[in-house]
Amino acid sequence: MNYFAGIDIGSTAIKVALVDDEGKIVGVHVCSSGSLFHKNAREAMHNLLTQLAVSKDDVRYMIATGYGRKLYKEADDSISEITANALGAHEVGKAFGGVRTIINIGGQDSKAIQIDDNGNVSNFAMNDKCAAGTGRFLDVAARNLDIDLEELGDYHFNGKGAPLTINSTCTVFAESEIIGLLANGHGKEEIIAGIHYSIAKRTVRLAKRVGIEDRVYFDGGPALNKGLVASLQDELGRELVVPEYPQTTTAFGAAILARSEYLDGKQED
Ligand code: ADP
Repeated sequence: MNYFAGIDIGSTAIKVALVDDEGKIVGVHVCSSGSLFHKNAREAMHNLLTQLAVSKDDVRYMIATGYGRKLYKEADDSISEITANALGAHEVGKAFGGVRTIINIGGQDSKAIQIDDNGNVSNFAMNDKCAAGTGRFLDVAARNLDIDLEELGDYHFNGKGAPLTINSTCTVFAESEIIGLLANGHGKEEIIAGIHYSIAKRTVRLAKRVGIEDRVYFDGGPALNKGLVASLQDELGRELVVPEYPQTTTAFGAAILARSEYLDGKQED
């Protein structure tokens, strides 16, 4: 059996995806990037293969992507996360009738990507200058509110009042604002919903820069947060396509490209 791997070494998390001869996903693995990108990336790959009982020798081709891709010398090739995300979303999006706009929120940046019918990138915009509007903002907020990241979605829907307005446009100031709101007796639920709407508004502004075309695919780790999904849908005024594994779309894109590069190479032999 032949396998093909994609490894997405993100600023916050490492994601690995493995596909088979047919390009079907066999398994995924997610772990924290930490500070030792290379060591953790090797471990992530090893863990996924062990979990699936796949021998390293059966992985015929491997493509690295993401922030730390250049550090992963074991890969046969590397591509930008924008190209990999586009390929992955195009492939996963087929089951939903095709997607043309991708909104990706990562740990430290956010992106809007427009793709054509073949999954090629036609336009993109990126915010990597400011942590507000990224997963980092959610991580900091969860810490300030003393709740787990995974709980943000539930809190969002349990508020008795309207979402609060978060005025700060900078994560550091937002931290003080959150603490101030708590000190004034506001509920965590309304604060969290306010944070989600604040991220959603920024994200929509970014997406409008590339143009929003149907269908819109939402991925990256923060797409696991149902409260953020709902806020983004409200702000966009349309339904989003959110895949089952939103955090691993980019790694999947790299894996399917690994498969096609391998097959193209074989044809040339
Ligand atoms: P990157 O590729 O930049 O490392 P990811 O797409 O992996 O980023 O997203 C990382 C972010 O995803 C984290 O900062 C966190 O905010 C968010 N995240 C991860 N897991 C969850 C979860 N289970 N629920 C909500 N948010 C999550």
